[in-house]
Amino acid sequence: MNITERLHRIWATLPAGVKLVAVSKFHPAERLQEAYDAGQRIFGESRPQEMATKQAQLPTDIEWHMIGHLQTNKVKMIAPFVTMISSVDSERLIEEIEKQAAKYNRTIDILLEVHVAAEESKSGWAQKELEAYLATGRLAEMSHIRVRGVMTIASNTDDESIVRHDFQHIRDIFEKLKPLFGRDFDTLSIGMSDDYPIALEYGSTMVRIGTAIFGAREY
Ligand SMILES: *Cc1c(COP(=O)(O)O)cnc(C)c1O
Repeated sequence: MNITERLHRIWATLPAGVKLVAVSKFHPAERLQEAYDAGQRIFGESRPQEMATKQAQLPTDIEWHMIGHLQTNKVKMIAPFVTMISSVDSERLIEEIEKQAAKYNRTIDILLEVHVAAEESKSGWAQKELEAYLATGRLAEMSHIRVRGVMTIASNTDDESIVRHDFQHIRDIFEKLKPLFGRDFDTLSIGMSDDYPIALEYGSTMVRIGTAIFGAREY
């Protein structure tokens, strides 16, 4: 199957209103162009330099989503064009995004990445830390950031009950935070190539799929 056929298969499985982020990290621009020509408009990348290079080569109506861990000193590389940063995991990063977005007179959408998986290695806020930060009220002062929801990566395991537990946990956090933010807070970003059908059962509104579209990545 080629990229176009794979995309059509995936789109057919997504309920109305669920967005597909085509995770194109490590794949060359020509493969993204193929997905674009098939109709895909949202692309996810994990490295700022790689995203900036591809952004310069590809059509301007693409929405670029940063999905990987982002160092504060790299925000400026993507601030002029990035639509959403879905891996926001610290106060320092929030402050830098606000500063850079203001510089370009833009509003950048963010997702708060929450750590719910069993592995220590995964990034993201611990729920308690995030709630403590939100309680400071500082986020409300950030006029160039729009908080759209939460994101997580489920445990990397063949045990489906653990994955379900993670998705239920992030869903609960999403519902709990919703009243603090209002209407713009509409995005629950869960589900990757191997677990997105399960994530949809837990109310995912944004799936991030790489391998199932572009094939294996070459590192
Ligand atoms: C790489 C990556 C994905 C896509 O993973 P696949 O298993 O290739 O679908 C999704 N989300 C994040 C945060 C990633 O880093």
